[in-house]
Amino acid sequence: MALITCRDVSLRYENTVAVGHVSFTVSEGERLYIVGENGSGKSTLLLGLLGLMQPFAGEIAYSEDLRRDEIGFLPQQTPVQRDFPAAVREVVLSGCLGRCGMRPFYSAADRKRCQESMRRLGIEALARRSFRELSGGQQQRVLLARALCATTKLLLLDEPATGLDPIVTAELYAAVDELNRRDRVAVVMVSHDIAAAVRGGGQILQLDSHQGAAYYGPAADYPASAAGKKLMGGFRHD
Ligand code: ADP
Ligand code: MG
Repeated sequence: MALITCRDVSLRYENTVAVGHVSFTVSEGERLYIVGENGSGKSTLLLGLLGLMQPFAGEIAYSEDLRRDEIGFLPQQTPVQRDFPAAVREVVLSGCLGRCGMRPFYSAADRKRCQESMRRLGIEALARRSFRELSGGQQQRVLLARALCATTKLLLLDEPATGLDPIVTAELYAAVDELNRRDRVAVVMVSHDIAAAVRGGGQILQLDSHQGAAYYGPAADYPASAAGKKLMGGFRHD
């Protein structure tokens, strides 16, 4: 079943059309990689899916089963966010803020979700540590746990592996993989790692700055597609 259906969606900032004429669906439990050059509108499209930007043309439709505050989000990181001076537990808990509504405090249920998210990502031992003192890989795990606090259905991840070394990247992908396969959390991941996207299966959406999608279809068919050949160059995928 479709959690989100985008029909001919266009998004713009004041003077810039950032996303133009994009159609795709995010189904329950599926994995969708969004790829494309810098500035092609990947992050903007996630803001659209989150309901933080309204399309100026086209439509984004949500399943009745998916409330807008039930989407977990790991934003593209900036150095300032990495220097956040709070304990890991507080950072993870803040993922529940979306569902707090007018309540100025966390409920017992929020704290339980927080604990469960930390357990699933194997970071319980870090709970009292300061976020800013963690390694990049640990920080991404914490932010993934934070995103998971908001949802059991859909995670949006914007370039989660940026700045991580290959081993830590593989660990992070494995954690995402487990959430997707074992817990059936649908994952929409913005990534520059085309090879990993192809390996990961699922769907690929390649954005082509405000001119619609250069590719949308199964990851397995991507290498042989015109867009795939262009982007992957001589890279051979077996
Ligand atoms: P990507 O994530 O693929 O690198 P973005 O979604 O960040 O691309 O940006 C898409 C386009 O929108 C770019 O041309 C970018 O300059 C522009 N853009 C992004 N954020 C803003 C903003 N806050 N205000 C105006 N233009 C923006
Ligand atoms: Mg971006």
